[in-house]
Amino acid sequence: MLDSLKKIFSSDDDRPVSTTGKPDIPREKSAELYEKSKKYFPGGVNSPVRAFKSVFGTPLFIERGDGCYVWDADGNQFIDFCGSWGPLILGHNHPKIKEKVSEVMQQGMSFGAPTALENELAELILKSNSLIEKIRFVSSGTEAVMSAIRLARGYTKRDKILKFEGCYHGHVDSLLVKAGSGLVTFGETSSAGVPKSFADETIVIPLNDRTAVEEAFKQFPDQIAAIIIEGVPANNGLLIQDKEFVQFLRDITQQKGSLLIFDEVITGFRLGFEGAAKHYGIKPDILTYGKIIGGGLPVGMYGASAEIMSNVSPDGAVYQAGTLSGNPVAMAAGIAQLTELLRSGFYKDLNNKTQEFVESIQRFTAAKNYKFKVFSIGSIFWFAFTDKDIKTAEDIDASSMEKFKVFHRELLNRGIYLGPSGYEVGFVSAAHNKTELEKTKRAIFDSLDIVFRTAAKFSKEESK
Ligand SMILES: *Cc1c(COP(=O)(O)O)cnc(C)c1O
Repeated sequence: MLDSLKKIFSSDDDRPVSTTGKPDIPREKSAELYEKSKKYFPGGVNSPVRAFKSVFGTPLFIERGDGCYVWDADGNQFIDFCGSWGPLILGHNHPKIKEKVSEVMQQGMSFGAPTALENELAELILKSNSLIEKIRFVSSGTEAVMSAIRLARGYTKRDKILKFEGCYHGHVDSLLVKAGSGLVTFGETSSAGVPKSFADETIVIPLNDRTAVEEAFKQFPDQIAAIIIEGVPANNGLLIQDKEFVQFLRDITQQKGSLLIFDEVITGFRLGFEGAAKHYGIKPDILTYGKIIGGGLPVGMYGASAEIMSNVSPDGAVYQAGTLSGNPVAMAAGIAQLTELLRSGFYKDLNNKTQEFVESIQRFTAAKNYKFKVFSIGSIFWFAFTDKDIKTAEDIDASSMEKFKVFHRELLNRGIYLGPSGYEVGFVSAAHNKTELEKTKRAIFDSLDIVFRTAAKFSKEESK
């Protein structure tokens, strides 16, 4: 069945007529812009997933956003669940952020010297985060992780990093590595341009597998600088780990003199102000942040105890710097956004709203007997065409993504914008209210009916 779906739907991505025989939403202006952008950028984009390679049609060029809505170049309006891939927890164009950014912009854009705004954002964070004592601002999540890895190596004087298959930590050379064959292996590079010698310093093992972790420490005694894991792995589906496993990582790193790095670039300020670490009740050694922290502008951060952070230059020997680090305009956006998040009840409301949304979708699919699950935590959700529990990258059935393609298209046609890949999670923001979530649910129900009707039709034709 899935192969035939693939044949029919992947063969011509620009079909103007959708699965239902009704025309797709107009994309002429986006298509025109895409033709142009392909001349300027590889694949026409500045970050690969934006190219819509895993779903139908040309990428939508977005013109503006407000609250939970975005509008594309053709004037189509969507309820947005991508939220710029996570940063926009308050929705688009939040008045408080706009106001603060405009005010700070009047003073100039960048000085490359300390400003009071960096102190202000740091104080806001550290007053309400018991996991870290000192921080460093950088300009992206990738940079935060890259710096955290260097710090862990500098601090432990060890070279190897242990990461998990299915966790993404930005495009850091030594972490663009996937599992080789065998339980505990050196990774194989997952991108051209990453030297094998770098990949040799990275051990990649499956999530939720204690034996593999123990085996790694056995094979590489006193060589592993750190284990790095996403607070909740949310870049390759949503692979929620049991608390026991995360606690096990905390314990074994402590025993073996390695550090535990929580990459909270998605989960930080998302699951709660203190992110996944607080959710699990675990204190990692180094934490990395990004996305929400910059209120939509480029900010990343890493933090740890004062003792570990004292190894960072100019106090210590671990070099790390940035021309635009702590940029005042970006700091302003972060200050405005995080101030809103600290209002009492913010996360409770957001998370409850998301759980209600998710549960009613789950009730619908259970009643219809659809092989479909919504995995969710806090205000993060992931739609998966499966009836299994999914905890590792290997649990994900790649062929189920063909169903996601149809689902994505039908949702776009109904004014709902999800990230253009079935491996990506979605985010509910404070700007999504009851009316919009109801509208989204109806669109999801209709789209799922179409996905499963289409699948049934093809499976019938195939069995003939
Ligand atoms: C997005 C992300 C990154 C990379 O952040 P960029 O700002 O895209 O460089 C790193 N780690 C995790 C967990 C992420 O979700």
